[in-house]
Amino acid sequence: MYRDGARKSIWQEEVRKFSAEADLSLLFDVAIVGGGITGVSTALKLQESGQQCIILEAANIGFGTTGGTTAHLNDFFDTTFTQVISDFGLDNAKLYAESGADAIKIIEDNIHRYKISCDFTRKSAYLFALDEQQEDRLKDIVEGAANVGHEMSYVNEIPFPIPFKEAVLIPGQGHFHPIKYLKGLCDAFIKLGGSIQENCLCEDHDEKEDYVILKTSKGEIKAKNVVYATHIPPGVNLLHFTNAPYRSYAMAFTMKNDKYPWELGYDLCEPYHYYRIQSLNGENLLIAGGEDHKTGHADDTGECFSRLENYVRKYFEVETVYYTWSSQYYEPVDGLPYIGKLPGTKERIFAATGFRGNGMIFGTLSSQILHDLIVTGKSKYGDLFNPSRIKPVAGFSDFVKEAATVAFDFIKDKIVTEKIESFSEVGEGEAKVINYESESYALYKENDGTLHLLKSTCPHAGCEVRWNSAELSWDCPCHGSRFNVNGKILTGPTTKSLQKIFPYQKRDS
Ligand SMILES: Cc1cc2nc3c(=O)[nH]c(=O)nc-3n(C[C@H](O)[C@H](O)[C@H](O)COP(=O)(O)OP(=O)(O)OC[C@H]3O[C@@H](n4cnc5c(N)ncnc54)[C@H](O)[C@@H]3O)c2cc1C
Repeated sequence: MYRDGARKSIWQEEVRKFSAEADLSLLFDVAIVGGGITGVSTALKLQESGQQCIILEAANIGFGTTGGTTAHLNDFFDTTFTQVISDFGLDNAKLYAESGADAIKIIEDNIHRYKISCDFTRKSAYLFALDEQQEDRLKDIVEGAANVGHEMSYVNEIPFPIPFKEAVLIPGQGHFHPIKYLKGLCDAFIKLGGSIQENCLCEDHDEKEDYVILKTSKGEIKAKNVVYATHIPPGVNLLHFTNAPYRSYAMAFTMKNDKYPWELGYDLCEPYHYYRIQSLNGENLLIAGGEDHKTGHADDTGECFSRLENYVRKYFEVETVYYTWSSQYYEPVDGLPYIGKLPGTKERIFAATGFRGNGMIFGTLSSQILHDLIVTGKSKYGDLFNPSRIKPVAGFSDFVKEAATVAFDFIKDKIVTEKIESFSEVGEGEAKVINYESESYALYKENDGTLHLLKSTCPHAGCEVRWNSAELSWDCPCHGSRFNVNGKILTGPTTKSLQKIFPYQKRDS
């Protein structure tokens, strides 16, 4: 299984081929674009209720963030209940609390119904404060949880070797192996008559009265409804201005002392660190995550791993680092996911995005919401997670901040690209956005001297890409499109590659 980054995540050991060639000439009831947890869960749910579905995936199943997640299953979220009570009211916050339990139940039901062996285990979670500021935040979180009836109780001990000031235990959480789970869902989907088409990039859509034409790299495909389960929808949409891309880092270690903390753990640093254990090939591995930052906003992404490793080594008896990987997620401006009809379209196109670090849950919940919207026209979560909602108060300052950052990236990048006179000024293994004869380029020189020269302007909205040394990719800081060193798309929303220049030809002027 391939992933949208150069590093191997812990889940990629489970190498699977998921698809069979599909008959693309049919009129499908629903075409689901994207083969991550959102797309596969949604396709299965719809197929179960008699809809004829096809999954269209640009690369392979699990290629996106689902292949680079850490797969904690928690029903308390990055956006706290306190925040939601204050911005959306108590009733909505209670519904929000219900959504987590609903999603974990869907996962459990799928596992039982289809006998999926995916290391699913119920766990307790520990949230712990390391200093006084974090203590205040924890108090706030616990108060909000009490108001929506979500159980959290103060404890004196935690199963992590980290000195803390205050901690709470949250029962009934879980974790699993996301790719084994995805594989189980795909098998069930195919058995029920569903189709999967990998290596099929959806480039555009044309919404007609009775169906939608998808323009794809495999030709036109027709469906009565389309779901963009692409983590962020392709093309240019309102959702690109209400979601900001972020990168998070994860590492898997063995420990010297066999004192593995078997529960889930989270501190309240900003950004926070998160912990869980996964057994793989008879060996236990501690997975730690953190060091999140806005995409394209770290000078050296490799350093994020060093910082995470040093942090973990401070507290845990680390023996060997086995896996290091990073991946991308989306922050919604008002803190809640967007699941429902794609803004700006008529009736037949749906999307799901803005999951923060809770996409195992919200991707799964999307399957129920999108099923209900497509099959019955309504969902109990329809209003709360409506992608077209406008909350003038909730998240307004964040919205301005994010929008301003995007604009700043756009202008600043036009100015600070380095001017070079010759490609020999770029060292081996080095990458730069350069200004050469008044044009800007993304240049990567391999260790053997091979040059990869691309136009550095992202074809999605015209921002300049930045080098991600950790995953050997060019990342767009504006909306999160990503490209490999040859300019090929790794991550949307772009549907076009970076323009490949090499072999470089001098222009006559
Ligand atoms: C490091 C990290 C750790 C995380 N840990 C957790 C966690 O512990 N718990 C949790 O709940 N959440 C976690 N998350 C979030 C969660 O992993 C994601 O929200 C979730 O995986 C998103 O799933 P998805 O199916 O929506 O998107 P993806 O998994 O990204 O799938 C989208 C798919 O769409 C395909 N695609 C894109 N564009 C097109 C196109 N135009 N045509 C065809 N196909 C296309 C892509 O190739 C991709 O395979 C984490 C995120 C990160 C970055």
